[in-house]
Amino acid sequence: MTGAEKFSPALGTRDYVIRCAECGALAGMPAYRCNLCGGPLLAGLATIAARDLVADPKAPGIWRHGAVLPRTGNVVSLGEGSTPLVPLRGAAGSSGLRVHGKLESLNPTLSFKDRAMALAASAARDLGLEGLMLASTGNAAVSAAAYAAAAGLGCRIVCGTGSDAQVKLRAANAHGAEVRLVEGDYSTAYADAVRGEAEGWFNVTTTYRNPLLAEAYRGVAIEVHEQLGRLPDAVVVPVGAGPLLYGLLQGFTDILDAGQGDRLPRLIGVQAQACAPLAHAWSRADWRDALAEPITVTPTSATAIADSLRGYEREGLLTLAAVRKSGGAVVAIAEEHILEATLDLGRQGILVEPAAGAAVAALNASETIELMPEDALVVVMLTGHGAKTLSVTSTSAAPPARGVR
Ligand SMILES: [Zn+2]
Repeated sequence: MTGAEKFSPALGTRDYVIRCAECGALAGMPAYRCNLCGGPLLAGLATIAARDLVADPKAPGIWRHGAVLPRTGNVVSLGEGSTPLVPLRGAAGSSGLRVHGKLESLNPTLSFKDRAMALAASAARDLGLEGLMLASTGNAAVSAAAYAAAAGLGCRIVCGTGSDAQVKLRAANAHGAEVRLVEGDYSTAYADAVRGEAEGWFNVTTTYRNPLLAEAYRGVAIEVHEQLGRLPDAVVVPVGAGPLLYGLLQGFTDILDAGQGDRLPRLIGVQAQACAPLAHAWSRADWRDALAEPITVTPTSATAIADSLRGYEREGLLTLAAVRKSGGAVVAIAEEHILEATLDLGRQGILVEPAAGAAVAALNASETIELMPEDALVVVMLTGHGAKTLSVTSTSAAPPARGVR
């Protein structure tokens, strides 16, 4: 077996430890919370050299950048990652911003979550676990179901009845996943998934619950740097709990550590005003207290980022700290601006989910404008495809004619 143990560039190759984000205590995988203080866990990865930023063109999917990913013994891939970066015309009104959209909507199951699930399914195989299990509003459900199927693992999905996710759940079901609805919202489904951890399934709920998942997003930062030939001035990211934003910060930090840039891009976290615990806390001095306060949640078309963080408020601190470290901000976008931006993008040939529309709308928010030089180079994360949210985009744009069946 010595031949099989040789270095393979198609694997994650970076050593890591799992550590409590709050008290620093170490944990082993699988682990979801600190045994000592109950704090969320993060993966601490060994530093890299400039050569580790170079893609291996022969490796599949996210493993092209396996040198920046946590060490794995299995590789599961459906060809995720390497998504296009395209200029967005007129995305920031009449400003001089140079805006590009990162089409994460073109991953195999049409959302950025595929990157995390490729890593999660690979790690679940390493750990000898039976399957993937998660709470989801939809995108992560389809993704987990597809990657579990590709890896020969089971998949169980818990979805709150408050999430409007019928199309996504049917897709997950088509991949062979067990889908269960629980009375309540996303946070209720989250609590249900946590109860299932003891049964030996890998909880891949895409908040910070599983400390490995956010690490998969390092590769997005590396790709953006590769595609632009430099670091952008800012990156605008739709955020529920926010692991994508956190992972981007890690990837951009890798690039700086490898001597390939001078300054971190400012990370702008974007929420829907209808459900904005992070934006609510951002403007306050004491984030912990602000996150613990009950917030009013109303329906939003941007279901993919509608996360009240109820019951896991401490995870929000990780995203807020990442935003602050980057010199960014968290903004909340009104429902009409979310819809307007989503429809505008559709008319440019780019169909996205409303959460991604919210990120485009955030370019015109005063908090964003204040942080940007006039000709800033900006990347907007277009996190999910609009094919899964047509109930929002097509009915509001052009209601079907009466009498048509
Ligand atoms: Zn701790």
